[in-house]
Amino acid sequence: MTDLERRQDRAPVPSGWDYAPAPEARDIVTLEERYGLYIGGELVEPKSGEYFPTVSPASEEVLAEVGQAGPEDVDLAVQAARDAYDNGWSTISPAERAKYLFRIARILQERSREFAVLESLNGGKPIKESRDVDLPLAAAHFFYYAGWADKLEYAFPHRRPRPVGVAGQIIPWNFPLLMLAWKIAPALAAGNTVILKPAETTPLSALLFADVLRQAELPPGVVNIITGDGRAGAELVKHPDVDKIAFTGSTEVGKAIQRELAGTGKRLTLELGGKAANIIFDDAALDQAVEGIVNGIYFNQGHVCCAGSRLLVQESIYEPVIEKLKRRLTTLRVGDPLDKNTDVGAINSKQQLEKIEELVRSGEEEGADIYQPPCRLPEKGWWFVPTVFTNVAQSYRIAQEEIFGPVLSVLTFRTPDEAVEKANNTPYGLSAGVWTEKGSRILSMASRLEAGVVWANTYNRFDPTSPFGGYKESGFGREGGLHGLEPYLDLEDSEVRG
Ligand code: NDP
Repeated sequence: MTDLERRQDRAPVPSGWDYAPAPEARDIVTLEERYGLYIGGELVEPKSGEYFPTVSPASEEVLAEVGQAGPEDVDLAVQAARDAYDNGWSTISPAERAKYLFRIARILQERSREFAVLESLNGGKPIKESRDVDLPLAAAHFFYYAGWADKLEYAFPHRRPRPVGVAGQIIPWNFPLLMLAWKIAPALAAGNTVILKPAETTPLSALLFADVLRQAELPPGVVNIITGDGRAGAELVKHPDVDKIAFTGSTEVGKAIQRELAGTGKRLTLELGGKAANIIFDDAALDQAVEGIVNGIYFNQGHVCCAGSRLLVQESIYEPVIEKLKRRLTTLRVGDPLDKNTDVGAINSKQQLEKIEELVRSGEEEGADIYQPPCRLPEKGWWFVPTVFTNVAQSYRIAQEEIFGPVLSVLTFRTPDEAVEKANNTPYGLSAGVWTEKGSRILSMASRLEAGVVWANTYNRFDPTSPFGGYKESGFGREGGLHGLEPYLDLEDSEVRG
């Protein structure tokens, strides 16, 4: 017997896979007790005189108080953006604009740990996701669009790209900093100025971003950040001096914004909900597919508009897939977002938790079978156990409505045609996944699926060079890539206009 074998003989057999706590240091973030609104390059007190608390969804602890922008505040922010637009930003050399964007990108990289901790603290997402996904991607968007700022004429040949003016941007709570980057980077690269409204529950990373803007010496008023609830968003939408609105959030609010803007001539892009099909064919690499299913729906607690929330499994592999999936679910660690081992963090708000619970109850009542792995949840905060529903009919609410939580609905299919029909049987059209070893099948499925993004043998991959956006009730307009610049540019045809 060799030494190695002897040692293995004596090695204790592990009795479980518990991990020791590995908390990220919270003290890298310094929070103020109270934050004002970032208007004209300064944090100013809201004229409304109103503040509201922002909490950690993992502990319900109040982290800070944040200003509620009223109509007068929105007006001041729009004036600041207009002044900055008229008095320099739209006319400085594009290469100068690019320098600011590069600076912002580099500062985000330098301060990425601080931002990652804050993002997890205020939003509830696992630190490994904020650290490895949100922050690198946010910086990458600024780098990417910095590159385009002085090349717009090459990007749109025979056109005369000019900025649109003042952009109002409203973002949700699921990727607070990343959505900010998706919105602000292309707008600035194209020469616009911005008023951004972060979501009510996750304002802190946007307020820390204001500090990055000061550090980068961005001219005052080019970016303004107004915090507050939906009322602030609604004021921004209807302000007469805003030229363009970019919105990411629920389909319901998206529709209300579209109605409000009808006939005003303001530009609009909407990135709304989704109910994506993640389709597994019987020739797929099953273990990889199961990882893709887990990433597709449990990433960021399922608070993802493009989440693979409907799993479509080919009937012949249904049993092994479900068995592997259930086994994999037992290994997911749910808990403290700041622990580096955590896979599934806290639900973003009590209101969102109640929405998830209500939809899950409806699934049980309508007749689906529920599976939840054994899981001990923390006592304080808002949590939901990763859940799988089998025996789901297409008509059930859990197969039709966006749950926006860690809840997967499983359906089956026999043929590619049936998979396409079921995948497209939704009012949404944001994303889809296809798992198969056949390239030809990937191409044929991608062309038949009504979805803005189709991932093949992977899921939830994002890249600043790649356009993202939806069809049908998932909205219109694209963010990312060259397409993401178009909504922020007037593209005059130089040949026609001479
Ligand atoms: P909302 O659509 O209400 O919120 C998105 C953003 O719009 C927030 O900043 C919100 O402010 C703001 N807003 C709210 N009302 C108005 C209004 N009338 N005019 C202008 N802006 C407004 O989403 P919720 O946070 O309420 O989430 C509800 C559901 O929407 C989720 O359960 C999920 O299904 C879906 N959703 C989809 C997202 C996506 O990425 N597609 C993202 C977030 C949610 P405030 O935060 O104060 O409400």
